[in-house]
Amino acid sequence: MKIIALGSPGVGKGTYATEIVKRYNILHISTGQIFRDNIKAATDLGKKAKSYIDAGKLVPDEVTIEMVKDRLKQEDCKNGFLLDGFPRTIPQANALATFSDIDMVINFKADHEIIIQRLSGRRICRKCGTTFHIVNIKTKIEGVCDVCGGETYQRDDDKPESIKERLKVYEQQTSPLIGYYQEKGLLREITINEDFGASKESIMARIFNLIDAN
Ligand SMILES: [Zn+2]
Repeated sequence: MKIIALGSPGVGKGTYATEIVKRYNILHISTGQIFRDNIKAATDLGKKAKSYIDAGKLVPDEVTIEMVKDRLKQEDCKNGFLLDGFPRTIPQANALATFSDIDMVINFKADHEIIIQRLSGRRICRKCGTTFHIVNIKTKIEGVCDVCGGETYQRDDDKPESIKERLKVYEQQTSPLIGYYQEKGLLREITINEDFGASKESIMARIFNLIDAN
């Protein structure tokens, strides 16, 4: 099973990905992790990537593509994988098609108001960095971290205006990919508007049904 997971900020993709890889016994491949592993092991590609990152530049497609290609060739990917964070662009998608046959692309969606509600409720401790949520993971005392007693605050990134902007940018960047995979008949979409904490099992059942129906 070879899956690509797409999803905007605040949609909960990471959590669903974790459950999917467990159930289908496949590997969760995130580009962030591939980068860190290559840089840590100081591979040729890792050194190349690091030189761009250190210079404050974007790592070019060709380096990212080579790293992913290299990773997917390894033995532990034989049973399949879930790709997270790749491809991001049409050239990356075209390159991927030359070295791997993807079974499906799952686009996790949620209404914008719901994403804004979720993300804007997030609070972070200034001292220890623990994340809370004013509805889902409340602190015992409002504004005070349960772990260390520090003050909790809302990141600028989590303010409704910034979230709207992030969603807009995400959609602009991703819509070509969505169209690309739709045309290939690989796109599956699922809208998750319910609160994850309250209905995790039913959400996961819907996702597994979608995958099993493939
Ligand atoms: Zn704290």
